[in-house]
Parts: sequence; structure tokens; C-alpha cells
Amino acid sequence: MNRRRTLVTGGAGFVGSHLCEALLARGHDVLCVDNFYTGERDSIAHLLENPNFELLRHDITLPLHVEVDEIYNLACPASPVHYQRDPVQTTKTSVLGAINMLGLAKRLKAPILQASTSEVYGDPEVHPQSEEYWGRVNPIGVRSCYDEGKRCAETLFFDYHRQHGLAIKVLRIFNTYGPRMHVLDGRVVSNFIVQALKGEPLTIYGDGSQTRSFCYISDLVEGMIAMMEAGDHVVGPINMGNPHESTMLDLARAVIALTGGDSELVFLPLPADDPQQRRPDITVAQRELGWEPRVPLENGLRDTVHYFRDVGRAAGWLPAD
Ligand code: NAD
Ligand code: UDP
Ligand code: UDP
Repeated sequence: MNRRRTLVTGGAGFVGSHLCEALLARGHDVLCVDNFYTGERDSIAHLLENPNFELLRHDITLPLHVEVDEIYNLACPASPVHYQRDPVQTTKTSVLGAINMLGLAKRLKAPILQASTSEVYGDPEVHPQSEEYWGRVNPIGVRSCYDEGKRCAETLFFDYHRQHGLAIKVLRIFNTYGPRMHVLDGRVVSNFIVQALKGEPLTIYGDGSQTRSFCYISDLVEGMIAMMEAGDHVVGPINMGNPHESTMLDLARAVIALTGGDSELVFLPLPADDPQQRRPDITVAQRELGWEPRVPLENGLRDTVHYFRDVGRAAGWLPAD
């Protein structure tokens, strides 16, 4: 049998590790490429025994010469704390990384999927966000390395498609959460859960009225694979996320209720350019991929709390019982 050889860049990250796992379960050979900027060997340690899984430590801002049948390009730090740590490297990863992966896809005539982001819409004045909306992004702010890097990557994908006939798939991913987020990831779901489990105050940035719409990881991974398998005519951009919208205050209360803790809330300054509202219009994903999320927030949060409880016990910051 000819197994499909699939490259996943950023495969040791939160989303990438779940994607690698799902592709292996579908009978693919998986080549995971990661420079461990935010990803960890621990996230994929359980896959290393699998003879169909291969790991290559490599930075995609440099050329990559491998032979594969399809490419998922996920490499890029995704948490504001991490993508702002070395903003120049973040832009390089999105832009030079896209050029290299598109060059690779062009040579191999392989379909390539880009993990783009709802962040291309910036702080949106259209709500919910549909794919036609061009966004409102500050080009020179502290989030720009991520937002503009991802926007430029989309430009490159569509130009390689138009100019070189590449089979591209641009997926705009909205906030996604679940097991295997890093304890120090810095994004809101992991922060709140870890703080609640430790009995520490939950850190709300601003007044907590800003909204996000949280998608569980298994729903996202199903959608990513559905887009790759949808045929060359499906190029996107396609929004992928859960339209259920929450304020950060609602999320904090839900996390405290699920952990059974009694943490207080502390209010810290809102970071610059923090979008006030975000909710995906997923009509296109429903129509073109037959995809919609299935896991309600409460169930997904419950599984994620279980995960962090186990991590805390193993690491010793929670009692063992
Ligand atoms: P993550 O930080 O957990 O994973 C990113 C991975 O990319 C890490 O393993 C990191 O080491 C690797 N990486 C970074 N720079 C690299 C480089 N130059 N070369 C090789 N590897 C590199 O983030 P995530 O949440 O898993 O996000 C994965 C992708 O999905 C990112 O492209 C992100 O922009 C996109 N995305 C994620 C979300 C979300 O909510 N999780 C939302 C929108 C878009
Ligand atoms: N590239 C790569 N692997 C390949 C083929 C190309 O990393 O197998 C890189 C190559 O180094 C180049 C980039 O992809 O910098 C863009 O390739 P393309 O063929 O589009 O442009 P060119 O090589 O003409 O600059
Ligand atoms: N946020 C918060 N407390 C935290 C971390 C984040 O209130 O400890 C807020 C943040 O200001 C933003 C929202 O939660 O309004 C989502 O932040 P995250 O970093 O998870 O994702 P992004 O801003 O990239 O959507």
C-alpha cells in the first residue's frame, strides 16, 4: 500500500501534535518539522515509537529539501507572549517560512495548507467575521509581527496559486484550546485553568468584556484534514472556529466553576491592540467542507481541566491525590 507522506511544520506545537496524531491514525506517514521555539519534544514523545512518524529539527526560515505528498504549514508561535518575544523571528517564520514551504510544494506539485488566523481581521468592526471582510490591522503595533506576517503569508499563498498553479488551502483558525497547551503558553484558557487549579487569582486583562469564540482541538483537527482532502478546487480562505462567543469574564467564571476552586479575579491592563470582539462566520466551512464544531465549550473545558490536573500532579504543583 502507498502510504501518503505528509509534512507537518510546527508539528511539535499544540495544534501540530494533535494533527500528527490524527494523520498517523488515518494511516499517513508523518514528517514533523519543528525548531522547538515554542513546541516541546514532550508533546510528540509518544509518537516517536511509531515507525510511520519521523521528527526533523529544522527552522523553516531556511530551505527544506524533503519528498512528501502534502504539506500542512503550522510553524509559527501563536500565543501573544511568545510571538512578541522575538517579533522579527515571528515575521521571518511566517514570510520566509511560507516562501520556502511554497517553493517546496511547487517543486513537489504537492497541495499545501496554511494555518492562517482570525488575527488577519485585527480588531474587527464587522461582527461576526466572514471571509470577505478585509480586516482592521495596525501595521506597526506589537501584534503586527504576527498579524501582518500571517497576512503576507496569505498573499504569498494566493500568488503562488495564481502564478504557479499551486493547490493551496488557506484556513483562518479562530481561538482553539485543549489538552497539550503548554502550562506557560500564556493564552487565556491555559492561564485561567492553571491559575484556578493552583488557587491563584485569575488574571483578567482589561475589564473582561472583550470576547473570543473558543474551538476545541479535536474539532479543528477534523476540519483541517477535511480541507486538505476536499480537492484542489477548495482553496479558501475558510474560517474555522466555534461560533459560541464568550466574554473573558464568562470564561473565568466557567473555569472557576469547573475546577471547583474559589479563585478571585484580578484586573490587569489590557495589552495594546487587543481585539475587542471575535466570532467566526462559519457558513463557508459548513457549505464547502460539511464541517461544524461538535464539542461544546463546557465539555472541552472539562477535558482540558483534567489534562492540566494530571500535568500539575506529575510536575508537583498539585498534590498527588
Ligand atoms: P504553538 O506555539 O503551540 O506551535 C507552533 C509550533 O511551531 C511550535 O512547535 C514551534 O516550536 C514551531 N515553530 C515556530 N517557529 C518555527 C520555525 N521557524 N521553524 C520550525 N518550527 C517553528 O502554536 P499552535 O497553537 O499549535 O499554533 C499552530 C499554528 O496554528 C500557528 O501557525 C498558529 O498561528 C495557528 N493558529 C493557532 C490558533 C490557536 O488558537 N491555537 C489560532 C489561529 C491560528
Ligand atoms: N525551496 C525549498 N525546498 C524545495 C524547493 C524550494 O526550501 O524543495 C525554497 C527555495 O530555497 C526558495 C523558495 O523555496 O528560496 C522559493 O522557491 P521558488 O522555486 O518559488 O523560487 P526560487 O527558487 O526561484 O527563488
Ligand atoms: N487574556 C486575559 N487573561 C490572560 C490571558 C489573556 O484576560 O491571562 C485576554 C486577552 O487580553 C485577550 C483574550 O484573553 O483579550 C484572549 O487572549 P489570548 O492570548 O488567549 O488570544 P488572542 O488575544 O490572540 O485571541
